[in-house]
Amino acid sequence: MQSYLTHLQCSNCGREADADRPQTVCPACGKVLFARYDLEAIRRTLPREALRGREPTLWRYRELLPVRDPASIVTLGEGMTPLLHARRLGAELGCPELWIKEEGINPTGSFKARGQAVAVSRARELGAPALAIPSAGNAGGALAAYAARAGLPAYVFMPVDAPESNKAECALYGAHLFLVQGLINDCGRLVREGVAAHGWFDVSTLREPYRQEGKKTMGYELAEQLNWMLPDALIYPTGGGTGIVGMWKAFQEMEQLGWIGPHRPKMIAVQAEGCAPIVEAYRRGQRHADLWPDARTVASGMRVPVAIGDYLIVDAVRESGGTALTVSDDALMADVGVLAQTEGVSAAPEGGATLAALRQLLADGTLQRDDRIVLFNTGAAWKYAELFPSPAPQVLDPRDPQVQGRIGR
Ligand SMILES: *Cc1c(COP(=O)(O)O)cnc(C)c1O
Repeated sequence: MQSYLTHLQCSNCGREADADRPQTVCPACGKVLFARYDLEAIRRTLPREALRGREPTLWRYRELLPVRDPASIVTLGEGMTPLLHARRLGAELGCPELWIKEEGINPTGSFKARGQAVAVSRARELGAPALAIPSAGNAGGALAAYAARAGLPAYVFMPVDAPESNKAECALYGAHLFLVQGLINDCGRLVREGVAAHGWFDVSTLREPYRQEGKKTMGYELAEQLNWMLPDALIYPTGGGTGIVGMWKAFQEMEQLGWIGPHRPKMIAVQAEGCAPIVEAYRRGQRHADLWPDARTVASGMRVPVAIGDYLIVDAVRESGGTALTVSDDALMADVGVLAQTEGVSAAPEGGATLAALRQLLADGTLQRDDRIVLFNTGAAWKYAELFPSPAPQVLDPRDPQVQGRIGR
């Protein structure tokens, strides 16, 4: 097993770049670089059946990942998460083929682990001395964990009102944490200045090419778990867009590998009403989004007012015949409860948003009840403890002879 990485290529201007030197964005136009592989060679040597029996982590797709030396891999067991058939919830909605990709059980409780596992492994392989990141929360926590495992210092910049668990995990893993009076884009500016001043390697969303490679493995897993038949639609809570862009790339790669046919799921991007730059660009028929002023939502992973990969997200949504829509914070929080109570899934607010979106899409006829639909629960509820106040249950005294009588009063 070896990586078939050949080079990097700009998704905008097509310019090629050397993959074996640290790279961030396209040196010519400043847009997003994609990792390219010798897919012909993989097609000849790796039939999809050969994946069976490999380790149940995203490293089972190692030929299609950028890390050259297996000894460089920094892993906590990320990926190959369950694809759960949501029978009870599906029955309530009249959707027999409703599925949940349960990303909340990844290391550090969100799918950010996928991107950081691959980015940190590759950054270490290429000799990065220290890693820095602007984060709405979960990406910073995940970087802190993987950097610790790699033995590299991590500098994390988060909005001052990011979830408490994300701040705590950065401290726990020994990262240098800075809280910023602003949003993730303000954090990004500080990181880029810090890169120039201190020589850190910048692992911002889609500003380095390999986090996306980690997240694309969700697309490979989906195909493998559904026996190489992609679903009719997938609903994805969209912030910087790494996952949706990565999966769209994975589908193209898999078709070139001969692993799947031309069928694509409708790629559906959901954002919060209080921060919806991608939805707005999609509705206006544009490829680039304007900065969303005064972004607010409890779903912090979607609190991303500007995304460098906006054009890639909008392209994937359009080319797939999907759509982009918003949900309110009240609706997404209510559906966090529904996911927990009908399916036992600990859903992040972002996961709740996918169910709230599904209700709208069924009501307006965008999706049919017999479609095979996959919701992405991108994180675990416990990472957002402050959004779920303790329920204050009855306290019992076990020495009280009347204790059973008090239960249920
Ligand atoms: C980061 C994040 C998102 C958004 O992911 P992108 O791939 O950057 O669009 C969604 N949900 C959670 C829980 C996140 O942490």
